[in-house]
Amino acid sequence: MTKRVSILGSTGSIGESTLDLVRRAGEGDIQIVSLTANSNAEKLAAQAIEFGAEFVALSDSANSDVLKSALEGTKTKVGIGPEALVEAASRETDFCMAAIIGAAGLEPTLAAVDQGIHVGLANKECLVCAGDLFMQRVKRKGATLLPVDSEHNAIFQVLERDKPEGVRRLILTASGGPFRDASMDKLRQVSRKDALNHPVWSMGAKISIDSATLMNKGLELIEASYIFDRPSSEIDVVVHPQSIIHSMVEYIDGSVLAQLGSPDMRTPIAYAMGWPDRMAAPVERLDLTKMSGLTFFNPDTEKFPALRLAREALEAGGKAPCVLNAANEIAVAAFLQNQIKFLDIPRIVESALEQHAARSCFKNAPCVVGDILATDEAARATAHEHIVSL
Ligand code: NAD
Ligand code: MG
Repeated sequence: MTKRVSILGSTGSIGESTLDLVRRAGEGDIQIVSLTANSNAEKLAAQAIEFGAEFVALSDSANSDVLKSALEGTKTKVGIGPEALVEAASRETDFCMAAIIGAAGLEPTLAAVDQGIHVGLANKECLVCAGDLFMQRVKRKGATLLPVDSEHNAIFQVLERDKPEGVRRLILTASGGPFRDASMDKLRQVSRKDALNHPVWSMGAKISIDSATLMNKGLELIEASYIFDRPSSEIDVVVHPQSIIHSMVEYIDGSVLAQLGSPDMRTPIAYAMGWPDRMAAPVERLDLTKMSGLTFFNPDTEKFPALRLAREALEAGGKAPCVLNAANEIAVAAFLQNQIKFLDIPRIVESALEQHAARSCFKNAPCVVGDILATDEAARATAHEHIVSL
């Protein structure tokens, strides 16, 4: 039977890897329903034509004419603006890949969840800014959340989800990013180019910077807490530079179960898109005999305060993770535009958390999307003010 698939953020790194698997699937196995992008109209149009998409949505209206003229005479319908992304996610599908970057993906991803379908979640920021609401919605609508982030996908594969009492802790692995062994002096002078150059994974710009600051692991800690319903105290992070073990679950009898594989996102994407069956992925097969060694050590939260900030935000609860995420998005964007220094990123996040903790009670978790978007906007404004004052 043909599987109907939509991809939110199809022009990005995860989106393109998903389409690579679709391209290699058997004739008639997968039909692309919707594809979406922020502003890259040319790439979106080319994807729509190659895959015969039913609907495409472009968030930023600036390039709408380019998209419309490229798709004139085809069967693909075009939508423009953020509402069109929600429409794209609402079209009837079996599987939706949520691969937009940042809190901008929240409303479209919730629209996919509302269909009660299988949702592959790469867009971790949705869970960081709206964890409780998001997981309640998944439950209420009968959707199946399939984590695509490699760590969460690993845990999903080895976790006995129906026997939570047997689990002692989750262990997230971290590559440590490009500055794992860098001195504080080096960190002070990090350039945009250095920070974008991840040693193991090839990813979009924002997540590459998050990996360099270790905020990515912080966001993943929060993501894991919501997906697997575990408190911060039951989730550890260990640096594992080779990125071969993608994460682990420790059980109360002392067993530790891990999922291993080459560092290629097409494995977790194939797992999510194929679930509950296995789908072939053209990734390098793991040859343990060719490995020189697997190493593990504790993360340095003095050098990389972002991980500590994320843990504190998770423990504070309520709006704190939303503030953390929004301030981080603004700080990372400013760093990518060479407006601030690398070490300013966690400083901006910390000061936004402090200011919002003073202003509002973090314990009052936002419970409707409007509250979350208002908190997100206010935290962005705080981070902007900080950047302007530097
Ligand atoms: P990317 O920057 O390569 O692509 C992002 C996609 O989202 C693009 O299609 C872009 O057009 C769209 N987009 C960006 N801003 C938008 C906006 N404001 N409104 C609507 N659409 C917008 O990002 P990526 O590396 O593919 O990451 C996507 C998500 O997956 C992120 O949440 C990231 O943390 C997560 N993730 C990525 C990887 C990876 O290897 N790239 C691994 C694990 C998790
Ligand atoms: Mg990850």
